[in-house]
Amino acid sequence: MAIIDLRSDTVTQPTPGMREAMLAAELGDDVYGEDPTVNRLEQYLAAELGFARALFVPTGTMSNLLGLMAHCERGDEYIVGQQAHTYKYEGGGAAVLGSIQPQPLEGEADGSLDLGKVEAAIKQDDFHFARTRLLALENTMQGKVLPSSYLAAARELTRRRGLALHLDGARLYNAAVRQGVAAREITRHFDSVSVCLSKGLGAPVGSVLCGSAELIGKARRLRKMVGGGMRQAGVLAAAGLYALEHQVARLAVDHANAERLADGLRGLGYAVEPVQTNMVYAQVGERADALKAFCAERGIQLIAAPRLRMVTHMDVSTADIDRVLEAFAAFARA
Ligand SMILES: *Cc1c(COP(=O)(O)O)cnc(C)c1O
Repeated sequence: MAIIDLRSDTVTQPTPGMREAMLAAELGDDVYGEDPTVNRLEQYLAAELGFARALFVPTGTMSNLLGLMAHCERGDEYIVGQQAHTYKYEGGGAAVLGSIQPQPLEGEADGSLDLGKVEAAIKQDDFHFARTRLLALENTMQGKVLPSSYLAAARELTRRRGLALHLDGARLYNAAVRQGVAAREITRHFDSVSVCLSKGLGAPVGSVLCGSAELIGKARRLRKMVGGGMRQAGVLAAAGLYALEHQVARLAVDHANAERLADGLRGLGYAVEPVQTNMVYAQVGERADALKAFCAERGIQLIAAPRLRMVTHMDVSTADIDRVLEAFAAFARA
């Protein structure tokens, strides 16, 4: 029985074409800047997203950390969502390793941060206070796409108040595909962007930080400091390049599968949040553990939670979605 893993879009296996690209990659020592495939990936993404430079790193956590540390000095502060990955799911790295104080704000239902609240949280220039330096947004945020008018307003605010604007774009391409725009239409509002290659794009490893030449110069130095300087990393960058060249448009399939899953679950009586990209949130309440165990016996992997998150990706087919719905229906009857 084939396993259907809905825990995350990080669980995908490299496709045959991707494995071939990895095998064929030209390699060199990237710490010396000599890996042609890493250089190609960095140039490709910088150009595509409208930045001067880019930096290949092992993880999105490192990419966000280097972005924050390159923008902020010790004792500076960044404004961020209470549920944002950068703040909540990265071990407090910006504070621990960068001495950057977070100022978390409760997010809105649409995944944004209220810009009035952001502006009110910016601290005055006074030696009692940390210096507010940066606003960090996330897009998609729990599968939700930030509207382009919102991004423009965030840009206007941060420019007016002298803050830098960073995007955790782990799922940038899900947002772009959903909106039917080039990714650059999203990233043009930001000073720096972190993109994950290992989520819906399907690469096994890797993220890329994009920004100005000065910012990426700093980030390159910091990457070495935190142990992220890799050598013949082109074998990994080749997977990322392949993903960007061949596996972006197909994200629409994941979105359609998520929609199909949500519709089916509503048909079974579950309250399901509106789906925009590849994440489905359903209220399963106290039966979360029982549901997880029931599905596990049928080859379906879930993370038990009352607000159950299920994520579609390239290793979940439309037929798999129907198998999941059958399991949920059987659970309702059991
Ligand atoms: C996955 C993810 C990251 C980075 O995670 P890594 O596992 O360190 O690559 C950052 N932000 C968001 C929103 C993510 O989902």
